[in-house]
Amino acid sequence: MSYHAKTVSFEKMKSLNQSTVLNMIRLREPISRAEIAKLTKLTPPTVSSLVNELIDKNLITEEKAESTNTGGRKPIMLRINYSAYYIIGVYAAAEVIRVILTTMDGKILSDFRKDIIELPSKEEFINMIIESIHRLLDDKYINRELILGIGFAMHGLVNPDEGLAIFSPHLHLENVPIRERLEKEFHIPVTVENDVRALAIGESWFGQGQGIPDFICISVGRGIGSGIFINNEIYKSSFNTAGEIGHTILNVNGPKCQCGNNGCLESYASESAILKKVKDELKFNQTSILAEWLNGSQNDVLSIHLIFKAAKEGDCFAKTILEEAGQSLGLATANMINILKPSKIILEGNLFDEGDFVLLPLKKMIEKYTFKSSQEEITVVCSTLGKTGMVLGAVALILQKIFKTGEW
Ligand SMILES: [Zn+2]
Repeated sequence: MSYHAKTVSFEKMKSLNQSTVLNMIRLREPISRAEIAKLTKLTPPTVSSLVNELIDKNLITEEKAESTNTGGRKPIMLRINYSAYYIIGVYAAAEVIRVILTTMDGKILSDFRKDIIELPSKEEFINMIIESIHRLLDDKYINRELILGIGFAMHGLVNPDEGLAIFSPHLHLENVPIRERLEKEFHIPVTVENDVRALAIGESWFGQGQGIPDFICISVGRGIGSGIFINNEIYKSSFNTAGEIGHTILNVNGPKCQCGNNGCLESYASESAILKKVKDELKFNQTSILAEWLNGSQNDVLSIHLIFKAAKEGDCFAKTILEEAGQSLGLATANMINILKPSKIILEGNLFDEGDFVLLPLKKMIEKYTFKSSQEEITVVCSTLGKTGMVLGAVALILQKIFKTGEW
């Protein structure tokens, strides 16, 4: 047993039944004790006793029902007391560390960012995170006893069972003992997960995945990854490495990928791949407005935003580059759909923030290459959580534990 039980008085949350009751209230609030018993198949005395414990912990509140259909005595209804406790979410990306403090409904009370300017050593990286969390906590007075946990979303390969960042390709770090170090420093339970899997969990709590039992979240940035939600659970596999859509092969003779193979989706459609392609091909497309901007006196720097700006001005070269990226993403997504048949695809990344230049060809490829009956409807949407998705996903890692697993 680590610091969990000692620091936060939640020993009894170990009870799976208590989490079941809590989750039922979350899903159906306002709800009466009798309805909870009916829906969970727990006996009314068990429900009453669990509800009393939850009230004692200030996790739920009681209120009188507005009216009853039968005209009988108004039942007491129960609701989650979302503002009673706090959660810290951390997202460590390639260029930035973002730390937020939220209530249990994901309302952000405090937000701190630290840019990663140079590649840090393992120790420097851990210290940057510890400092960032201290800055966040210093920013606002809150009772630390009321912090339920620290959720940590980390890019690259992660072992959630050990709270370990196994390999971070963008920061060039290996085996960072995130959970161990943060629990030692803050005496608050820590949960670590891969950033895209955290994003998918975040979408299921706060975003486009709410109430959807099976969806796939695809994140496109410097790399490309996916979080697969099946039967209301994130799918990890025994190796904790499921979802690497970025390294599915589109063409064995394609461009070199950073994983060592050739022709991975990432080597066609990641932001880095798109920027490289523009740089390489611009030499032969000097009529593109991008060539004019980059060679001009305005000091424009090549960026994804600049490519979109050119596409919006009708630049054929920029439009083609974005269209081809969309086609590659659509092809890989169609393959994934054929295997898993999710009912929804949620897309996240800069490529989907500025118009439909990538989204439309992506959708066309899905339409063309998915094998489905007329009853099967698969919707493709863009994340509405945007840049906050990953860090809210980190918060959702803790919520998931409290409301679903009874691991406390
Ligand atoms: Zn690869």
